[in-house]
Amino acid sequence: MSQQAWTLDVTSYWTRLVHFFYKRLSDMSYNKTVDSLGDYSWISWFLEVKGNGFICRVPTDFIEDKFNLIGLEFQTHTMDLVLEPEYDKHRWNNEVYTADAEQLYGMIHARYILSTGGVADMCLKYERGDFGSCPKVYCKGQRTLPVGLSDQWNQSYVKIYCPRCNDIFQPRSRCGLLDGAMFGTSFPHMFFMQLPAMMPSPPQEKYVPRLFGFHLHRNALVPPGSPEQMPKIQGSSTSQSTFLSSTNQMPP
Ligand SMILES: [Zn+2]
Repeated sequence: MSQQAWTLDVTSYWTRLVHFFYKRLSDMSYNKTVDSLGDYSWISWFLEVKGNGFICRVPTDFIEDKFNLIGLEFQTHTMDLVLEPEYDKHRWNNEVYTADAEQLYGMIHARYILSTGGVADMCLKYERGDFGSCPKVYCKGQRTLPVGLSDQWNQSYVKIYCPRCNDIFQPRSRCGLLDGAMFGTSFPHMFFMQLPAMMPSPPQEKYVPRLFGFHLHRNALVPPGSPEQMPKIQGSSTSQSTFLSSTNQMPP
């Protein structure tokens, strides 16, 4: 390569680099957010909003399929916003539109994650630990899945479901402010029906309350003189042995 050709090549490289950064700065000035796919759609913007980490990308062809929208009531402009490929916050600067779009996307999302493709997408997030872990000690950091307590919008916030202890908890992240209807009541159970090999076994250990090393007798936790305790005390000693058991078995 001649000296002149090399100089032209470097100049071209720097010109493209400057053009790239100029374009990025220009995009940032419009408050657009680009996701890993590099598009400027409303969906990409919505997924990047802090606190929306539990939500996955619903393919536009799933959203456009009228079969998937049966029973959902929405305005045409709300759907236009959800499917907006070049989202400009200034143009759509209306909180009502945004809230409606969030609800519409959320209700379609609840349907999508029950499909085979949706389960696969959520499985990637599950394995990545996006939904957090169970706070119980004996679940040993078991990964959780999001679940709703209702399939209706505006009834309750999302919870996390632990498949090991079969219980639900409040999420510890900002995602706990998402509407539970975005995930629905069936999602975790459909997830493990489709991926049964991923269902963890129940915890092997269980916490046993002890006082100075002794198991607590259940009468020890009943207020003195209460009707529940009185019949059991009659005819027995009220010595310490009534309240504490030194055996390794829990009292009946
Ligand atoms: Zn658990």
